[in-house]
Amino acid sequence: MACLFCEIIQKKRPAGIIYEDEMVAAFEDINPQAPVHVLVVPKKHIPTNLDIGEVDGPVLSRLFHVANKIAADKGVAKRGFRLVMNCNPESGQTVFHIHLHVLGGRFMQWPPG
Ligand code: AMP
Ligand code: ZN
Repeated sequence: MACLFCEIIQKKRPAGIIYEDEMVAAFEDINPQAPVHVLVVPKKHIPTNLDIGEVDGPVLSRLFHVANKIAADKGVAKRGFRLVMNCNPESGQTVFHIHLHVLGGRFMQWPPG
């Protein structure tokens, strides 16, 4: 089944990729919800966080490290930022390839909507 984020990772679809290594890629969200809104995705296709296995530890660690680096590079790490991973439709997940949303640059409400 075609996966939007696999297509971006494989460069079959254009995206504003700002970081890439052998395990993860990061690109600007096409519909930003905050001044900083970047998606960090594993290159491995994992549909939801429910599908994460023990073997995926290194890739998850990398996902968080890269998210932190992006927050620092974008100047929001010290101010504060939010990492979000939606799971399944009621949470708002629309792309079934896990991704961390890195959101920052404005005050974040709690509880989330
Ligand atoms: P979620 O709703 O948590 O699954 O997040 C999916 C995110 O992917 C949304 O924030 C969308 O705006 C974003 N998105 C959808 N298509 C693209 C695309 N072609 N390039 C970048 N971001 C996208
Ligand atoms: Zn995928």
